[in-house]
Amino acid sequence: MSGREWPLRFVCGHDGCNETVNYRYSTKRDLMESFELKNYSDGRWRCIRHVRANEVLSANNLETRAVLTVEQKPHGRYFGSNGFIFGPGFKAFAADFPEGAQVIVTATLILPTPVEPEEETRA
Ligand SMILES: [Zn+2]
Repeated sequence: MSGREWPLRFVCGHDGCNETVNYRYSTKRDLMESFELKNYSDGRWRCIRHVRANEVLSANNLETRAVLTVEQKPHGRYFGSNGFIFGPGFKAFAADFPEGAQVIVTATLILPTPVEPEEETRA
């Protein structure tokens, strides 16, 4: 057994972002045939903040919405490639619903009302 590792490193392709990710492979062949090398090279890797950036809640993006539709596949019903989806406050098994059923997940950001600083009183 060799202790040699084949590293692969990417920097987020979003302008000005310096997030990085490191992958390690046990052989050069694994690296050369990796999903990561084929899909993330040439600035295509994005960090969690910048992949599907429209999903990041902010003062300029107060609500996000995702629609997941049950599809009938040869081996059962799925939401895309998942038979089970979950998030804060919900769980759903595609097998429990007919094809075409939809789960709509909405996230809403409510910012606190800004507190105005008290005006200085001048004597
Ligand atoms: Zn980034």
